[in-house]
Amino acid sequence: MIAFISDLHANREALDAVLRDVEVQKPDAIVCLGDIVGYGASPREVILRTREISQVVLQGNHDAALLDDRDAAGFNERALRAIEWTRAALDAEREENWPLWDWLGSLVPSMDLAPGPGAETVHLVHASPRHPLAEYLMPNFGPEHERVAGSFAASRHRLTFYGHTHHPGWFAEGDAFQRAADNDALLKLEPGRRYMINVGSVGQPRDGDPRSSYALFDGISVRWRRVAYDHQAAGRRILEAGLPSSLAERLLVGR
Ligand code: ZN
Repeated sequence: MIAFISDLHANREALDAVLRDVEVQKPDAIVCLGDIVGYGASPREVILRTREISQVVLQGNHDAALLDDRDAAGFNERALRAIEWTRAALDAEREENWPLWDWLGSLVPSMDLAPGPGAETVHLVHASPRHPLAEYLMPNFGPEHERVAGSFAASRHRLTFYGHTHHPGWFAEGDAFQRAADNDALLKLEPGRRYMINVGSVGQPRDGDPRSSYALFDGISVRWRRVAYDHQAAGRRILEAGLPSSLAERLLVGR
């Protein structure tokens, strides 16, 4: 069993709560689909913890934007401010921070994962199979949508796991997006059918449920966990850091 986490966004309160829940589930591995930083106020703690507990980590568009301004093209004002703040917090002039920057720079946004002998290889991306760093596969897209059809065409394996939109759920090929509603939402995978599976966001859920989301995959089904955490504390930390207040407020409502 694999636990997929994604879009942690420097929210240490959320990550800590999720990892406590993960521990109870006893997965064989933890895979992170990117966006470790951005928006939140605890980049260092979240980078260190993610690096320590994950067997596989992808790079997200916020991680890439931290390293290179060109990847911040299209970012809104508050996302840009958070990137600037994170750069200052992870001061690249200080030698002790160099390993963090090297590690973020070593990550890639797309990868094949062979979970083990006899297990099906799956495709991992941060955003979409076609544009793994930053294309949005939004939950309101129908099966005919060019991005959905194009993504299925570009996916390298029957199953793709992704994040980026912060909306947990899945596209089964030919169907509209299905939301993974509530804790322990379950998807039983039909043999031979192709899926793109969004594991949701640990650090900044946007589906109206402020609880963190992550997903467990055992080869035949996917189960989403929703984990309550101290979002007041995470919000306070954002305000104390001088980050835009809307980044704290959205944690309370999960939007
Ligand atoms: Zn994200």
